[in-house]
Amino acid sequence: MGRYLESSCKHCRREGIKLMLKGGRCETAKCPVEKKQKNLAPGMHGWRRGRMSEYGVRLREKQKVKRYYGIFESQFMRYFHQAERLKGNTGQTLLQLLERRLDNVIYKLNFAPSRKAARQLITHGHIHVKGHKVDLPDYSVDVGDKITVKGSEKSVKEIKQQLALNPNFTTQGWLQLDRDKPEATVVAVPTRDDVQIPVEEQLVVEFCSR
Ligand code: SF4
Repeated sequence: MGRYLESSCKHCRREGIKLMLKGGRCETAKCPVEKKQKNLAPGMHGWRRGRMSEYGVRLREKQKVKRYYGIFESQFMRYFHQAERLKGNTGQTLLQLLERRLDNVIYKLNFAPSRKAARQLITHGHIHVKGHKVDLPDYSVDVGDKITVKGSEKSVKEIKQQLALNPNFTTQGWLQLDRDKPEATVVAVPTRDDVQIPVEEQLVVEFCSR
């Protein structure tokens, strides 16, 4: 499985928004987007960021979504073509499909501080869905799926510690969390409102359909 090797913060600086790729650090003042670098794209010519072309605006929207979910171009295009084949608004369906990825769900349940950490939990075999081990971060959850944590006591303890870091945390309506076990159930399909990234999905569709 491929992965991004460059600094995660560069992605946020390029897009000019917080993509929350580094877990706890993203909430602190150390985040470069919180500092003056907010409008400074990475690289020696970052300060030269000028007015973007229509193509550029659409490209950035697409890159924003890709980087937010931590996936590569080929994976992203697979989701796009799947969304095109399904009924309904293509942009919203695309975001819905991405939101249902298991690594995103584990992150949204606060079992891991970032999607990257969630992917590690999954690939190391700590996550079970409907009683079976699932080690594929791109597994798409469905309504009724029960997500449990199996494996060493250490992994369960680490997830409980992660949950304890944020006692006021509440899950989105489509996920039901039992903190004590810990386990969760998918009770609905995510809606557009559950997708927290500020993106204009129509521009993403226009970019991918050109
Ligand atoms: Fe880095 Fe997180 Fe801030 Fe993004 S949100 S720039 S990953 S610290």
